[in-house]
Amino acid sequence: MSRSDEDATSRRPATEVVHSGRDPFAHHGFVNPPVYRGSTVLFPTVEKLNKRDQEYTYGRRGTPTVRALETAIANIEGGAMTKLAPSGYAAVSLAFLSFVEAGDHLLVADSVYQPTRKLCDFLLKRLGVETTYYDPLIGDGIDALVRPNTRLVYTESPGSQTFELQDVPSISRVATARGLWHLMDNTWASPLYFKPFQHGVDVSIQAATKYIVGHADAMLGAVTANARAAKHLEKGNEALGTCAGSEEVFLGARGLRTLDVRLERHHRSGLEMARWLESRPEVARVLHPGLESHPGHAIWKRDFLGASGLFAIILKPCPPAGVAAMLDHLALFGMGFSWGGFESLIVPFDPTGYRTATRWQAEGQALRVHIGLEDPADLKADLDAGFARLRAAG
Ligand SMILES: *Cc1c(COP(=O)(O)O)cnc(C)c1O
Repeated sequence: MSRSDEDATSRRPATEVVHSGRDPFAHHGFVNPPVYRGSTVLFPTVEKLNKRDQEYTYGRRGTPTVRALETAIANIEGGAMTKLAPSGYAAVSLAFLSFVEAGDHLLVADSVYQPTRKLCDFLLKRLGVETTYYDPLIGDGIDALVRPNTRLVYTESPGSQTFELQDVPSISRVATARGLWHLMDNTWASPLYFKPFQHGVDVSIQAATKYIVGHADAMLGAVTANARAAKHLEKGNEALGTCAGSEEVFLGARGLRTLDVRLERHHRSGLEMARWLESRPEVARVLHPGLESHPGHAIWKRDFLGASGLFAIILKPCPPAGVAAMLDHLALFGMGFSWGGFESLIVPFDPTGYRTATRWQAEGQALRVHIGLEDPADLKADLDAGFARLRAAG
């Protein structure tokens, strides 16, 4: 633990993202820990080698670059231990595989990040683990789905396409009463806008690729565990050999330092754009938890400290050619997967094909929107021109 982490508990989040995990005088006074590249770590004596008696023993088990970001994320999420992974999805896999055994039963939200379903339905199923998908709005009703062999409950709030807000504290209370682990994908809110460990979660997952890296230039994941879950995470990580590349970890640490100011802008511009979109005649509904019209708004106000820049809109019915005309010629909004970078994005989506516990019903085409750091006036002008093309094509 570095000198700057000693009084970490008393510091506010904006300070924490700037200072946590840095120890300049351990690096000749340079502000940022350097990129340590390395596999072999030398031991000075046979005795030290036999006992593995030093802080760093092998590149896969961590370097000062890796430890710095792990310390910072653990502090900001409020957990006891963080392990980094080469992508957000690898972090999801690491989290599940650290806790499940053959014969287990899992409860996973139906609104979960879609590839997480592949892990459950393909790999975990093959290993003898059964998954039940549940209505994300189930709250403490999840108690009725718990079986004698249920090992864990998995939440993601809001869902990153359909934006259902889960009652995480209620689900935590059931998990505690029934002796289940509670794992959560906390990517949407980032470690700043939802504090999973204050709401009873045992393990929090970040697709750091999104807001922590924040610049669409690296893949990275993080799994953070509370003290009770840390041993499992450590063993799982060791068994799987999960580790992230030094350059990506450096970019994650660099992104983290500006997370607070970036999220403030994503929050403000995202809400402004959501309100503007809600007033558009082409739009049937806007799915943004910060809007009073959102069914999960009360939970968002109760549990969250802010909103990130990701939400969805449902268009009124229009021909597919209208949607293509709107999206094909946008000047500022890019079309592509992932989000959390400085730039605005828009993609059509349709979850009807993979939902199993709930039915997705929408008036027209659904679009997922990421509001970046541009001036909202320019973003409105870009979408306004897009809506004009949509109307012309209809
Ligand atoms: C993107 C994403 C992931 C996976 O992260 P990658 O870095 O793309 O592998 C996991 N969960 C959520 C909610 C995501 O949006």
